[in-house]
Amino acid sequence: MVRANAAGWAALAIMLGLGAGGTAEEPAGPTLPPVSERARAVHAAGMLFDGHNDYPWLIRDEGDMGMARIDFAKSAPGQTDIPRLRKGGLKAQFWSVYIPSDYPNPTRTVVEQIDFVNRLVEKYPDDLQLALTADDVEAAVKAGKIASLIGIEGGVAIDDSFAELRAFHKLGARYMTLTHNKTLAWADAATGERKHGGLNEFGERVVAEMNRLGMLVDISHVSAETMADVLRVAKAPVIASHSSAFALCPVPRNVPDEILAGLKSNGGVVMVNFYSAFLVPDSNKKAAEAKAEIRKVHPDRAEARKAIAEWYKNEPGAIRGTVATVVDHIDHIVKVAGIDHVGIGSDFDGINSWPVGLEDVSDYPRITEELLRRGYSEPDIHKILGGNALRALREAEAVAKKLQAETPPQVDEIRHKKNDHDD
Ligand SMILES: [Zn+2]
Repeated sequence: MVRANAAGWAALAIMLGLGAGGTAEEPAGPTLPPVSERARAVHAAGMLFDGHNDYPWLIRDEGDMGMARIDFAKSAPGQTDIPRLRKGGLKAQFWSVYIPSDYPNPTRTVVEQIDFVNRLVEKYPDDLQLALTADDVEAAVKAGKIASLIGIEGGVAIDDSFAELRAFHKLGARYMTLTHNKTLAWADAATGERKHGGLNEFGERVVAEMNRLGMLVDISHVSAETMADVLRVAKAPVIASHSSAFALCPVPRNVPDEILAGLKSNGGVVMVNFYSAFLVPDSNKKAAEAKAEIRKVHPDRAEARKAIAEWYKNEPGAIRGTVATVVDHIDHIVKVAGIDHVGIGSDFDGINSWPVGLEDVSDYPRITEELLRRGYSEPDIHKILGGNALRALREAEAVAKKLQAETPPQVDEIRHKKNDHDD
C-alpha cells in the first residue's frame, strides 16, 4: 500500500481519465502486442500467487464496504475484479487488510477489512474460496477458485498484545507486515525513525509467536536492520509480500543484497512490487518534473489533466518502468538469493503508478512472457509465479506444528492499576 487516501485515488482516476470514483473500464494504457499462446499456456499451467493486493482498502475508500454499488464479478474501480483476475490467470491472492500507522481504532479497522474479505468470498463463491493453509490453497485452485488469503499490513493492528496477534490468527490472518511507514514500539520501519536499531526484545517475541502460530512474518516496509533482526531470530521462512530489489532501485523500503543472500538459509521469498517508484530510481521525481512541464504548457487545469493522462498513457517506461523492469528485479533476486526465493507481490490497488504493460491484474501473463523470452524454464517460471510462496507457507506451517509442541504461547501478565475494578 502506497496510496494514502481516497482523494489520491480520485485524483489518479481523473488523471487516467477513469472518472472520479466511477466504475473503471480498462485503465488507460498503451496498446501492446497480445501475449503469445506459449506464454499463456505456461502461465495457466502455473499457480500465480500474488503476495499483496489492496482491494479491501480501496473499497473502504470508495465507501462501499457493504458492496451495494460495486459488483466484483463485473467490474470494480481500480485494478482488480473477477473478470480481469481470471484473464490474468491469478490462482491465489493474499488480500491485504491494511492499517495506516496513525489511524483511529487500528484493531477494529483491521477486523472490518477481514470481515470484508470474508463477505467478498461468500458473495462470489463461484470464483473465490477462503484459504487458511497451503493445502487449502491447492484445494481451491483444484476446484477452479481463486484461493483467498488474508495478510495484515501494519503491526500496529495488534496493539502490542500477543492476545490480539493470536486472535488475528484465529480470524484467518496468515501474514503480518511488521510495520507500515512508521516505527512501532517494537520495530523500526524503513521510512520511520531509527528507534530500536531493528527489533527490540518485544519485537523478537512477536516474530517468535508468529512462527509458533504459523503466520508468515512479512518484512516489507521494515528497515534493513529490522529485516536483519527478523532473519536472525526467525525459525520459519519469511516473506516480503510486496518489495523489490534495493540494488536496482535504492529506496529504503526495498530489500538489500545482504538480506537477499540471507534468504537462502531462511527459505524466505521476496515478492516483487510493481510500484514504479520501487522499480525505477527517482521515478516519482521524474514524474513530478514531467507533470510540471506539462502544466507550464497547459495553464488551464482541465487541459493539463488531459495532457497528463495522455503523457501517462504514452510514457514509454523510462519513468513508470516496463514489464522488463519488473523482470530485471526478479532476475537480480534470482542472482543474489536464488530461484527459490522470488515471487510476485504486485501491490495492485495500493499504488498510483505502475509499469507500462502491467496496467491491472489482467496483465500478469506479460511477466511470464518476458521470463520465457529471457530463457527461464517452465518449472522455474512456476516457482516465481507462486510455487515459492506456497512452499514458504507450507514450511511455516510445519515449523509452527513443531514449535507448538515445544514452546508455550507468549503471554504478558496484565498489570491492572490498583482499584481498576472498583465499582
Ligand atoms: Zn505496502
